[in-house]
Amino acid sequence: MFNRVPGTKDILPDQVRWWQDIERTSRKIFSIHNYQEIRPPLIEDAALFTRSLGEATEIVQKQMFIIKREEDLYALRPEGTASIVRAYLENNLDKTGSFVKFYYMGPMFRAERPQKGRLRQFHHIGVEAIGSKEPEIDVEVIALADTLLKAYSIQGYSILINSLGCPKDKKELTRILRDNLKDKLEQLCPDCQARFDKNVFRILDCKNESCQNIVSQINIGNTYLCPDCAVHFQRVKAGLDSLGIKYETSPKLVRGLDYYTRTVFEFKHGQLGLQQDALGAGGRYDALVKELGGPETGAIGFAFGVERLNLAAGTPEAALKDNLVYLVTLGEQARFQGLKILADLRQAGIKADTDYENKSLKAAMRKANDLGAGFVLILGDDELKDNAVMVKDMKNSTQEKVPLDKLGDYLANKGKS
Ligand code: AMP
Repeated sequence: MFNRVPGTKDILPDQVRWWQDIERTSRKIFSIHNYQEIRPPLIEDAALFTRSLGEATEIVQKQMFIIKREEDLYALRPEGTASIVRAYLENNLDKTGSFVKFYYMGPMFRAERPQKGRLRQFHHIGVEAIGSKEPEIDVEVIALADTLLKAYSIQGYSILINSLGCPKDKKELTRILRDNLKDKLEQLCPDCQARFDKNVFRILDCKNESCQNIVSQINIGNTYLCPDCAVHFQRVKAGLDSLGIKYETSPKLVRGLDYYTRTVFEFKHGQLGLQQDALGAGGRYDALVKELGGPETGAIGFAFGVERLNLAAGTPEAALKDNLVYLVTLGEQARFQGLKILADLRQAGIKADTDYENKSLKAAMRKANDLGAGFVLILGDDELKDNAVMVKDMKNSTQEKVPLDKLGDYLANKGKS
């Protein structure tokens, strides 16, 4: 017997309903906000991610699933943003649509150490709005994420926001962090010592207690933002205020990927019992479109981890039973006749099934009950003779004989009442 690959999950039929609900709810809300779905491939040129996320990031250094085919290196996508910007440029959408709003849903792959809430194949639901630097789109995107969480009935989360500023400001922020940390290098964990030169932002996310203690003493201040970036951030906050969206400004929220500039944000949930408690996160990436060969333009997006949403939503309620019509046949001739009855019901759009395990009447009735059937049709010798079936209404335990040529209408009417 084979086992699934560690860090992957089978989403079984009784769980899939929750996933379908989340997807359906999301699509509805995306549509209301005028976002269109985009479906890039799951594999990309590995260099796309190295270039976009940054050579020194954890994802690129340790977590990419690489596929080597002859001379080519592909990667299973670890995130959606880089692929979507690639698709935007490769399909000339910067020339035809210029400002676009995309949403996407699907699996992502990261070779992390598997644990609760951290998988090697997980799922994102996210958006990318490409082609605008206006702070009002930041507000729309953060508000949209908030609307989604409310629509998923998730409570107990908080919104953290920060601004990293433009690339120049980011350099200044890097300098401030290095200045604060340089005398304490020896107290940092070995990973953070390596991060000091390569990607100092990541030290702020380290879960090591000693690193966290040091980080808690850093005073970043807000002097690193240039006047334009400071105004941008002010307008984002004012927009969120005007919509009544509660958030905390968190100077230590920096996000480790190279492409982020200006606004960054995170949706945290305290009760997941995870080391990493983010339901989702995102931010602006104003330099990325140009970095990947496109025009100078702004962009912003976010992604939720669907498995984390699932943890936050609690145990999904027992799946609602469908109004299934279940046919029980007695004897070979009835079984044969039953094929046609089933086909006719399905043709009429009625959800119908039968027993393929040759069960006794009692066992078949039990099965119908387990399946949550609304009606059971019994077809025995008497019914065959009369060209009819016995229809048992499982809700109120009544039954009546119905001619086959009236069955579709009868069930359709009952279904309405
Ligand atoms: P990131 O691109 O790392 O900011 O991820 C966005 C969201 O995806 C996170 O906030 C998590 O909810 C989710 N996520 C990221 N990595 C994983 C993972 N390995 N397993 C499960 N969910 C993840």
